[in-house]
Amino acid sequence: MQSYNSFEVAKQQVLEAARLLNLDEATIELLTKPQREMNFTLHVRMDDNTTKIFQAYRIQYNFARGPAKGGIRFHPDETVDTIRALACWMVWKTAVVDLPLGGGKGGVCCNPKILSERELENISREYVRMIAPLLGSDKDIPAPDVYTNPQTMAWMMDEFETIMNRHERGVFTDKPQQIGGTEGRRDATARGGVITVREACKVYGFDPSKNFAIQGFGNAGQRAALLHHEILGGGKLIAVSDSRGAIFNSNGLDPKELVTHKLKTGSVINFKESEPISQDELLELDVEILYPAALENAITSENASNIKAKVICELANGPTTPEADLILYDKNVHVIPDILGSAGGVTVSYFEMVQDNYSYFWDETLVHQRLDKKLTTAYHTVQEAIKDKKVHPRLAAMVVGIARVAEACKLRGWV
Ligand code: NAD
Repeated sequence: MQSYNSFEVAKQQVLEAARLLNLDEATIELLTKPQREMNFTLHVRMDDNTTKIFQAYRIQYNFARGPAKGGIRFHPDETVDTIRALACWMVWKTAVVDLPLGGGKGGVCCNPKILSERELENISREYVRMIAPLLGSDKDIPAPDVYTNPQTMAWMMDEFETIMNRHERGVFTDKPQQIGGTEGRRDATARGGVITVREACKVYGFDPSKNFAIQGFGNAGQRAALLHHEILGGGKLIAVSDSRGAIFNSNGLDPKELVTHKLKTGSVINFKESEPISQDELLELDVEILYPAALENAITSENASNIKAKVICELANGPTTPEADLILYDKNVHVIPDILGSAGGVTVSYFEMVQDNYSYFWDETLVHQRLDKKLTTAYHTVQEAIKDKKVHPRLAAMVVGIARVAEACKLRGWV
């Protein structure tokens, strides 16, 4: 199987959009390089009293529209280029939904599946100790990503506030509600994605009551399974996968029971009344809607021509390669690109920062209404760019995001 460098993919996408926007050389150079990279090691005390060294990164890709914003991922396969790509995509994502933020991302090369709770806490606190002066609600605001969660954010915020000797809750988002988290953050990424699917159904006439499948059954995937029916009023989940395997049932899988099964056993495999299929087969099933909610480069030139879904809503970051985008466009598959389809999470993270800043919290209904408005507006703005530029949805979304960032760079006198 071909391997992909996600940052090369991300830069290729920027160059295509920059060409359509006729951006000058200096602007293109600025937008294809991170503004600040931190590459550091963590020395962490383990349960057996030994010390282990972990490679860590924080990349603040662009600040033109506001402080850097983006998750921290704990994953054994993390590389600096994966983080660069994820940081780069965050810049266009915050711009597409028109948030006053830039983009960033961080990560630690570690395998949380073999670490104890105490070891994860030590890693989280050491991470913050290494870069605390460069974090802050007006500098860089991390959030959870793959294999990190609100507990990780709680440890990190506590470490930051201890170092700084003051409260600053808005420095991390997707915290537990008891310490400054917001209503509606846990399902925000999935909710935002399903809202964009709802709009796509209205515009293109897709049928939301038909079958759907989900690749990846973590935070984003599980919540999409639970919300699909609620927001779209129908639809049958027939397949899901996670890192250990995939399962299928043409009569439908019960999302609630599946979430309970995953929590209890650690995987979706062996769920009652389901048959095992391969993770690759899941992507090629005959469904109306497919949600990639795992990792990068899932849909490539090798499998794109076999995709049968009519709509792909990308909850994951970077699940489709540029070659695959073109194949899907030719096949009339409507791709809701990651920088739009997964923007619900960062949108509600932004709402959390706003609430933390004035220490007054909204109810869930208000969060949902404001999220819906942001995502619906963004979906239709991208639709206009699709029609105007006659390009596939990712390129159209990139054009919207990059135009906004390039304008901010120009206004600041950077280029
Ligand atoms: P998570 O750690 O909660 O879940 C990841 C899931 O993917 C797990 O179920 C894991 O088993 C599964 N997985 C890993 N490799 C797989 C494979 N090869 N095939 C199938 N499944 C596989 O992470 P998450 O927060 O749900 O994030 C998932 C994706 O969504 C990532 O790309 C992330 O960057 C993106 N995203 C998440 C958020 C958020 O708010 N959580 C926001 C925007 C984008």
